[in-house]
Amino acid sequence: MKKFEPKRVLIEHDALNYKLAQELEKKFKDTGIPIDYIESHNRVRAEKEMNPIELFNWNKETLVIGVKKTLNFKSCQPSADYRLVTSTSCPAKCEYCYLAKNLGSAAYLRIYVNLKEILKAVKKHIRKGRGEIITFEASSSSDPVAVEHLTGSLAKIIKYFAKQDRGRLRVVTKFSNVDSLLDIKHNNHTRFRFSLNSSYVIKNFEHLTSTLDERITAASKIQQAGYPLGFILAPLMIYDGWQEDYLDLLTELKARLVNPAASNLTFELIMHRFSTRSKNLIENRFPNTKLKLDKEKYHHKGFGKYVYPPQQAEELKEYLTKKINEFFPQAEVEYFT
Ligand code: SF4
Repeated sequence: MKKFEPKRVLIEHDALNYKLAQELEKKFKDTGIPIDYIESHNRVRAEKEMNPIELFNWNKETLVIGVKKTLNFKSCQPSADYRLVTSTSCPAKCEYCYLAKNLGSAAYLRIYVNLKEILKAVKKHIRKGRGEIITFEASSSSDPVAVEHLTGSLAKIIKYFAKQDRGRLRVVTKFSNVDSLLDIKHNNHTRFRFSLNSSYVIKNFEHLTSTLDERITAASKIQQAGYPLGFILAPLMIYDGWQEDYLDLLTELKARLVNPAASNLTFELIMHRFSTRSKNLIENRFPNTKLKLDKEKYHHKGFGKYVYPPQQAEELKEYLTKKINEFFPQAEVEYFT
């Protein structure tokens, strides 16, 4: 797929003290992309009043270059011990995206240029573990692979973790531009997970992401490069023909992976869910969405959150777990939620 290029760039004044911001400023000036300068990456406003659709599109076409000031990492259970944030939001427009929901009207893409300081903070958090292995999730607030062609940060982070006895990195992506990561000495300290779904879900809800074919090709390259590999199947959806579609997905995956029998393959299974807030945002941003958001047909988990009713959830879990065990007997299904 075509790599992301912003329509406009906003640079925080302080960011220009860092080499990456200076290089990006030059690159965007040379390519004629409009640049503006701002005080804080946390206070970005569109230049005029916009309706929710226009504002969402404006956010997704804007790149903000800033400095990450909060270096006290938040917990990231169940995926990892801590969130490692080097960017916020992403250029894709998945209709169900929980991140776009959490960010609300601030869904613009931010990249942080003070990587050395962020990695120093990683070291501090590893030390807090007093000898335990500490894991860091690089994709809790963005898709770092989607902006790697601009930042090169993920490559640097992977190299950094390769040297950490007690630190491990976890990455999730729906993007396929992994070629710059293949020759890195990663020391098996970074686990890549590709977020996959049935072709129906990708086509209808995962706009501006890599295709299924591209993701599987990228996953295969990552496996060939020796990285520990996993898959997140999410959000799992029930619709007419879902079983056949997920079967097709697993068949294709098995046929195309370099080593489908690898013993360190993992699967994480997450069913479709929404909240009252996300339903409102989705319906405003995607008025013709095919997402099923009918509260009456879902199970209310409390706090305004909805998931499939227990019987349907069990059906999804059983079917996917059984098929994964059949197709990838060596793999581990880590959880279903
Ligand atoms: S790729 Fe991930 S972070 Fe980006 S819009 Fe889709 S779900 Fe959200």
